[in-house]
Amino acid sequence: AIPLVVAISTSLAAKNGLLVRNRTAFENARKISMLIFDKTGTLTTGIFGVTRISSFLSNLTKNDLLALAAALEQNSEHPIATGIISEAKAQKVSIPNVEDFQAITGKGVSGKVNQKNVWVVSPGYLRENNLNIPEVAVADASETTVFVLIDNQLAGFISLADQIRESSAEAIQNLKKQGIKTFMLTGDNQKVAETVSQKLGMTGYMAEVLPHQKLEKIKEQQAKGEFVAMTGDGVNDAPALAQADIGIAIGSGTDVAAETADIILVNSDPKDVASLIEFGRSTHQKMI
Ligand code: ADP
Ligand code: MG
Repeated sequence: AIPLVVAISTSLAAKNGLLVRNRTAFENARKISMLIFDKTGTLTTGIFGVTRISSFLSNLTKNDLLALAAALEQNSEHPIATGIISEAKAQKVSIPNVEDFQAITGKGVSGKVNQKNVWVVSPGYLRENNLNIPEVAVADASETTVFVLIDNQLAGFISLADQIRESSAEAIQNLKKQGIKTFMLTGDNQKVAETVSQKLGMTGYMAEVLPHQKLEKIKEQQAKGEFVAMTGDGVNDAPALAQADIGIAIGSGTDVAAETADIILVNSDPKDVASLIEFGRSTHQKMI
């Protein structure tokens, strides 16, 4: 039988936007000493608008570049993909077919369009392949930039931006008051990560982190004795959500994240993480 206080607090939790999938994890929420957040789609809305498009090739217009990128992104469920598709639709470009689509985890996508090999990838992917990032493409502090390669040649870039969720700052402040360290792990670039984590007053951040590195980072903190909760929304967050002592998925995120998590933030509101910990504490006090 479920102890009465637990049953009551679970339904109270539901009223406060928390869907509890694993009650043991819920009861352990009071032990959390560190909360690790994904950035895109978690602390930010993950709703990207295209801010800049630039083609480096004279025979390729901005809309051509957009159409190529959109062709690949139709096969991806990443927030960047959604932003690029929306822009292609807004510009009414016709989107070509793609063959041999491949997702390069945490780095981008690739495929064949009109017999050409096309990539849409992160700045980190360019660096790994010894390609220079052109000065004009250096992102401003709030932009996420992806590069388009055609047959191994740098063809242009697309910059996108999303917004910090309204209640993210309050969530971080609240956790700090409870003595909990807050840390950001993101696959996005250094500048954006620094800007967002500083704006929110977080303890620290790590940028250009690949999905398996998110998991390693959590293990590292656990080895230091931290009781770690991880909050994320993406497919790429799932291994980290599974590794964390408590995995928390954002409701608007991917199914994979939700299925892996112990708790789901139904309203996609980071503030509800703070109430989760308060609940955990008061439930425990009532039980002892
Ligand atoms: P985050 O931790 O911010 O959710 P990801 O690990 O999903 O980031 O992605 C890291 C980076 O890889 C992105 O910022 C982008 O540069 C690149 N990337 C990932 N998926 C895609 C995609 N579908 N199209 C283009 N770029 C992508
Ligand atoms: Mg994310």
